[in-house]
Amino acid sequence: MKKLLILGAGYAGLAVAQKLDAVSRGKSQWEITLVDQRDYHLIQVRIHEVAANSIPAEKVKIPFNELLDGRNIKLVQATIEKIDPNAKTVQTSAGLLQYDRLVIALGSETAYRDIPGLQEHTYPMKSLQDAITFRRAVIDAFKAASNPDEAPLATPDERLTFVIGGAGLTGTELAAEMVDFCSDLVKRIPMARKAYRIVLLDGADRILPQLSREYGDYVRGELQYRGVSVLTKAFIEKVEPGKIYFKGGKMLKGKVLCWTGGVKAPTILQESGFEVTKDGRIEVDLFLRSKQYSEVYVVGDNAVIPDRRDGNGGSVPQTGQYAEREGELVGENLWDEERGIRPRLYIPFSLGTAISLGRDEALTISGPIRLTGVPGRLAKNVSYDNYEWNIRWKPRLLNAR
Ligand SMILES: Cc1cc2nc3c(=O)[nH]c(=O)nc-3n(C[C@H](O)[C@H](O)[C@H](O)COP(=O)(O)OP(=O)(O)OC[C@H]3O[C@@H](n4cnc5c(N)ncnc54)[C@H](O)[C@@H]3O)c2cc1C
Repeated sequence: MKKLLILGAGYAGLAVAQKLDAVSRGKSQWEITLVDQRDYHLIQVRIHEVAANSIPAEKVKIPFNELLDGRNIKLVQATIEKIDPNAKTVQTSAGLLQYDRLVIALGSETAYRDIPGLQEHTYPMKSLQDAITFRRAVIDAFKAASNPDEAPLATPDERLTFVIGGAGLTGTELAAEMVDFCSDLVKRIPMARKAYRIVLLDGADRILPQLSREYGDYVRGELQYRGVSVLTKAFIEKVEPGKIYFKGGKMLKGKVLCWTGGVKAPTILQESGFEVTKDGRIEVDLFLRSKQYSEVYVVGDNAVIPDRRDGNGGSVPQTGQYAEREGELVGENLWDEERGIRPRLYIPFSLGTAISLGRDEALTISGPIRLTGVPGRLAKNVSYDNYEWNIRWKPRLLNAR
């Protein structure tokens, strides 16, 4: 049997394995091995909800054994240390693995853009542990502020100022969830009611650059209505404990600072000899194969895929929705290849975008349809349920055995 090694079992990597196993009804000649450092699939698109105590951590963890039980997919729980694309091997903490075909789907890491102090003094929001640590820091800030030995709280008070840097999807949704989290906490600590402040900031002149300006302005208005201070054109120059310094000389004090302002691919890709872009990603062709090594596929956040919908030569967005479809295409193409069928080109498309505006409301845009408030949130919840159904039950229905 030929060896298919999939590095990373997130949105893209899991989709490759599940799709290939399902469409081949477990009869593929590929010996499928998934390698991941975790023993669970992380619903990464919801970790900010854990961070703001909207949902429990268990809700975003699906153990791999629940997803892979009874499938012809082997899971190796290990850390990937280095890829040797010439020898077709991958060094992991569990030993050396060989492959005939490789899929790289390692997701992204927080990018700190060489801003002094940013990494040292801010909380990231990429892993479940990041979300849990942030949640703890917010609760601790409220507890400390209510300590009778502390000075009385001012309005607003830097000890209860929560700053989120980076107003893309993650930062914006976190700011909105924080409104609900802080209102819960002041129910227990009424003296903090007028002291807390949530600040969302970005160096650009607007928030949510992935949406049209009209939608960005709508979300900004909604956040401000809920009491979030939104600062744009706020370029961070350096960060010290509890202090953010901006270009132009201004400074903001805050107790808990979270950075969601950028991602990059893991350095392991460059260290393994792949030619990478400025943010560490690998350029692929329209079959999602590396341009350097045709037996290597790259999917999800690690890939730079030309987006033919974009007249300015842009690339496909790095989101869970695209990552899943890219993975599915590679799974289907591997099965087609076995049967002598020509591979399909990747054609990116989006079902829409949903931005939560707290626990009960969201803006959901799908083609010409725009839903706001509670209907928007219900539509977003449907997209979450749909994804979970796709990974839990769809492969079993497609491939009952
Ligand atoms: C808070 C937040 C909110 C988001 N909201 C949305 C949203 O609303 N909609 C949307 O579409 N997208 C959203 N995204 C983006 C989305 O989560 C990513 O684009 C998507 O997860 C990328 O999928 P992937 O398969 O490339 O990587 P991932 O899903 O991150 O999977 C990578 C996998 O690789 C494993 N891995 C990494 N390094 C190693 C190593 N060295 N050894 C072993 N295993 C390793 C990881 O454990 C992980 O399982 C959000 C992201 C965040 C952080």
